[in-house]
Formats: sequence, structure tokens, C-alpha cells
Amino acid sequence: STQPVKVAVTGAAGQIGYSLLFRIASGALLGPDTPVQLQLLEVAPALKALEGVVMELDDCAFPLLHSVEIGDDAEKMFDGANAALLVGAMPRKEGMDRSDLLSANGKIFTGQGAALNKVAADDVKILVTGNPANTNALIAKENAPDIPAERFNALTRLDHNRAKAMLAKKLEVAVDEIKDLAIWGNHDDSMYPDLYNTKVSGKVAADLVDEAWIKDEYIPTVATRGGAIIKARGASSAASAASATIDHMRDWMLGTDQIVSMSVPTDGSYDVPEGIISSFPCRVKNGKYEIVQGLELNDFSKERILASAKRLQDERAAVEKLGLI
Ligand code: NDP
Repeated sequence: STQPVKVAVTGAAGQIGYSLLFRIASGALLGPDTPVQLQLLEVAPALKALEGVVMELDDCAFPLLHSVEIGDDAEKMFDGANAALLVGAMPRKEGMDRSDLLSANGKIFTGQGAALNKVAADDVKILVTGNPANTNALIAKENAPDIPAERFNALTRLDHNRAKAMLAKKLEVAVDEIKDLAIWGNHDDSMYPDLYNTKVSGKVAADLVDEAWIKDEYIPTVATRGGAIIKARGASSAASAASATIDHMRDWMLGTDQIVSMSVPTDGSYDVPEGIISSFPCRVKNGKYEIVQGLELNDFSKERILASAKRLQDERAAVEKLGLI
């Protein structure tokens, strides 16, 4: 039978991990014919809890789950990894400002970037979910000089899925009637869902709704969805974040016929400055993605996209100052 694909997951004992691992093991990431070996990284105090999660994975008797390894040593858990899902990150605590958060996470992602550089498989693909995801991905990339830059992505697929679902609801159509929607920019409240290039059953989405709705309701609602879920559920979104993480990595590894949102290293496309990891509409084929070229952006879109990129440039400057890249 086929060799198992090695999937490393960090923060595996956390909330997102608890939803993510079971779906990977059931075949949602690699399809129904590919066995998977899970390599789960956690900080030492969380390893006991992770053992409990592994007991539950065992108890599911997943036919595709070849084996599970756990540990707190990144060089061991990333060894030979074909895919790395970097979910674990330091949550923002009371009284922490942005630079404290960048600094705490910087230490995690410099080490993980270096470890991936040393031991991951030649074909490794790395997706950062842990926040601030785009800048954490940048830090890991900068600390992994031997891994091609384009293998470092950050997650904006949850924003993409939220934007799609919310538009489908507004227009009372099925989600799969919505095509070519994409999130641009940073995974924070400045992210920009472009409805001017989105199609709904062949029509331009922006023509089907009021401009005021887009600006005053739609964009802010998509951007603050995480907070709304915390308020309703009493805990942050975890299952949907896990699902989006799988969507992104599955599409990257297996391809898709849709345009999808991926935060990728910038190459000057659409005047977004180089040197950051920002979200774009992408197409994926044969394990490689490309930023969709030639889209027309109106002034409003351009302004929003560059404003979000500015946040990423500021974060880059902050982590440079901290000596993390
Ligand atoms: P979660 O599993 O809920 O979240 C993990 C990370 O994903 C956070 O940074 C969180 O950001 C981010 N995230 C991205 N998108 C979303 C979203 N839509 N909703 C919620 N979170 C999102 O956190 P837990 O605290 O439950 O678990 C984190 C685990 O990571 C812990 O077990 C911890 O021990 C571990 N960890 C492991 C490390 C390692 O392996 N070396 C290093 C650091 C932590 P945000 O904070 O903004 O919500």
C-alpha cells in the first residue's frame, strides 16, 4: 500500500487541535486512499493532555491512521514532515500589547522555522494558523533559508469561508453558487473580502447588494465574526478554524478548480509590497499555487488592500526590531 504522508501539527492539545486531528485521521485532508502519520508537537505541560487525545484517536480505529507520535522537541516532530500545520501559538493575555505578543510568538516561530529547515521533507508545505498568523509565518520563513519561500503560507481561509457563507445567506443562494471570492491582506480586522470580482451564478456579487451594505455591514461582520462566536459560545471558534486549516492544506496538496484565498509571500503582484505574507486569490494545481493575475481592482479595493498590507509591513518592522528576522 501507499507510504503514509507525514503530517506535523503543533499546539495539538489545544481547542483547534481537538477538532483538526480527528478530521485529518479520517481522511479529510489527504483523501480516502492515503494513510497518514501524525507527528504532534506540544509544550511539555500539555503533553499529558495530548496523551488523552491520542487515546481517543486510537479509539476511533481510523483505517487511514498509520501511527501517531507526540513530543515537545520540534526537530523530532517535524522530522520528514510533508505537511506542517502550525496551530500552537501564545494567546494574547490581559495587559499584553502587540509587541509583547509578537515577541512571545517570535520565539516559538524562529525555533520552529529553524527546526523545519533542518528536518522536514524536501516537499514540505507549511501553513500557519496560530495568530498573528501572517507574521508568524514570515518569522518561520525567514528562519528557514533552505526551504523555498513559497512553502510558507498563513491561514485566511476561515475569513474566506465566513465571507462566502455570509454572502450566500444574504442572497439566499447555496454557498457553491459563489465563485471567485477572495480575501486580501492580513488575517485581522483589516482583511478585505472583494465582492467586485466575486460571481454569483455568473453575476457580479457587488451588483446584487447595496454598496452601503458591503461597507457598513458585510465587511465589518466578516471581520468581527471571531468575537461574535466567542460571545455566543463562550469560547473561540475552533471547529471552523480547524475546518478552514484542512481546506487550505487539502487544496494546496491536492489542487482545486476554485479560486481560493491563501496568505502567501508577496511578489509585487497588485502593488502589494514585497517582504510580507499577505492574502490573495490563488489557483492551485499539482501542489503549486499561483496568485491570480489580471484582476481589475476599483479604488476602494486598492485602498483597503494596501491598508491591510500596511499592517503587515508594520508587523514586519516590529519583528525586525526585535531581531526575530
Ligand atoms: P486554539 O487551538 O483555540 O488556537 C490556537 C491558535 O490558533 C491561536 O493562536 C489562535 O489565535 C489561532 N487561531 C487562528 N484562527 C482562529 C480562529 N478563527 N479561532 C480561534 N483561534 C484561531 O488555542 P488553545 O489555547 O486551545 O491551544 C493552543 C495550544 O498550543 C495549547 O495546547 C498550547 O500548549 C499549544 N502551544 C504549542 C506550542 C508548541 O507546539 N511549541 C507553542 C505554543 C502553544 P488567537 O489567540 O488569536 O485566538
